[in-house]
Amino acid sequence: MPEGAIERSEIEAALAGTTDDPVRFDRLVRYVVALLDRNAATNLTAARTPAAAAEHVRDALELLPFVSGPLVDVGSGGGFPAVPLAIVAGLEATLVEATGKKARFLSDVVAELGLAIRVRPGRAEDAARRPELRAAFASATARAVGSVPTVLELTVPFLKVGGVAVLQRGRFEPAERAAAHDAALVLGVTLEREILARDGGDRRVLIFRKTEPTGQRFPRRAGIPAQRPLCVSGVP
Ligand code: SAH
Repeated sequence: MPEGAIERSEIEAALAGTTDDPVRFDRLVRYVVALLDRNAATNLTAARTPAAAAEHVRDALELLPFVSGPLVDVGSGGGFPAVPLAIVAGLEATLVEATGKKARFLSDVVAELGLAIRVRPGRAEDAARRPELRAAFASATARAVGSVPTVLELTVPFLKVGGVAVLQRGRFEPAERAAAHDAALVLGVTLEREILARDGGDRRVLIFRKTEPTGQRFPRRAGIPAQRPLCVSGVP
């Protein structure tokens, strides 16, 4: 008990200021407690301390101004960015996660906290073909899942026309930018905004808006979006 109590207060301190709503703050704390707890036994995320986990939470919450529900998060891992976003904004969300033990953790924490989140174990390439999930979302996120062209192929099929894929990136070099432009064209989205971090570093948020339905052949079968990203040099 004392260890648990100490950890909770440490987590509360690390998360200070993330939300003014005491109920949502309590959920955020309980989510981080559960994440660190399970992470001690199973590898869910690189964040192993309250401070490191709180950094991931703050990073996720940078997307608050750009997302709306329903939100789909592809490759959620331990739940970033969608779980903090769903808790703080009260968004309805669906998490698509291919690794069984991560999906199990997500299902457990969602049940424990009573969140309006559905967990879809499995790959985005398969989930995006399900009629109830395809073209069903207002926004999509995918953090640390792959290059921009890969992530666009894995997220855009889930979006309604008018919806947005909201992607956090570090550097965005000309070659990846050119490939992203081509992939966007093929998938029916356009890069609408690029918001640079205020600290002058390389971090940025890219907002791609869906302007037309995505062709039925996307996403390609499992593994192909990562192995052969759309429209990089060498594609016919
Ligand atoms: N978004 C989390 C996890 C990043 S690690 C974070 O920022 O901390 C990438 C995760 O994406 C892994 O958990 C992996 O299992 C998952 N993943 C990779 N490709 C996927 C796919 N095609 N469909 C669903 N999940 C995928």
